[in-house]
Amino acid sequence: MTSLQPAEPFKHLNISSAEVLERLTGRSPCPKCHKSRMYFCYNCLVPVDALTGKIPHVRLPVEVEIVKHPGETNGKSTAVHAAVLAPDDVTLRTYPDVGSYDPDETVLVFPDSSAGSVADVSATAPARDALLAYQRGKPRTHLATIEAVYYFVRELQESRHDTYGGEFDDLLFILRPLLPDCVP
Ligand SMILES: [Zn+2]
Repeated sequence: MTSLQPAEPFKHLNISSAEVLERLTGRSPCPKCHKSRMYFCYNCLVPVDALTGKIPHVRLPVEVEIVKHPGETNGKSTAVHAAVLAPDDVTLRTYPDVGSYDPDETVLVFPDSSAGSVADVSATAPARDALLAYQRGKPRTHLATIEAVYYFVRELQESRHDTYGGEFDDLLFILRPLLPDCVP
């Protein structure tokens, strides 16, 4: 997998305007659990009322299940971004809840330098589901979970269709304004 470049990381991506996020002046209650949240509730996986229907709704080419390390809190995990932005296609689990999968239709995506390429995966498996597992405590050079999901579906799309039109770029919608060095 390639990594985002540190300089102007989002310059060439087709990400929706962050204006709706910038207009928020403070926290508001989660529509489900009523706890005070900024953009979304990392436990209920829904945006705050002010953002309901106003943030991108991304559809993915595969069902993605993300298995989180139990020691990683939801509040710090960018895996939550995937569940909030692509709620139809992303399930977030916490180990040891790993769900059950058909090995013939599932690929395991585990960010690792020795991993095969996505093109290899899509050539050998009729991937309908992608299971993403990862470890905590990795150095900063490793991809954030949301980046790993993004690059996986992007490379899958490119390998299946030989082209990519930016349709998954909004997976990085929430990440974008959270990066201090990012110019919107
Ligand atoms: Zn909540």
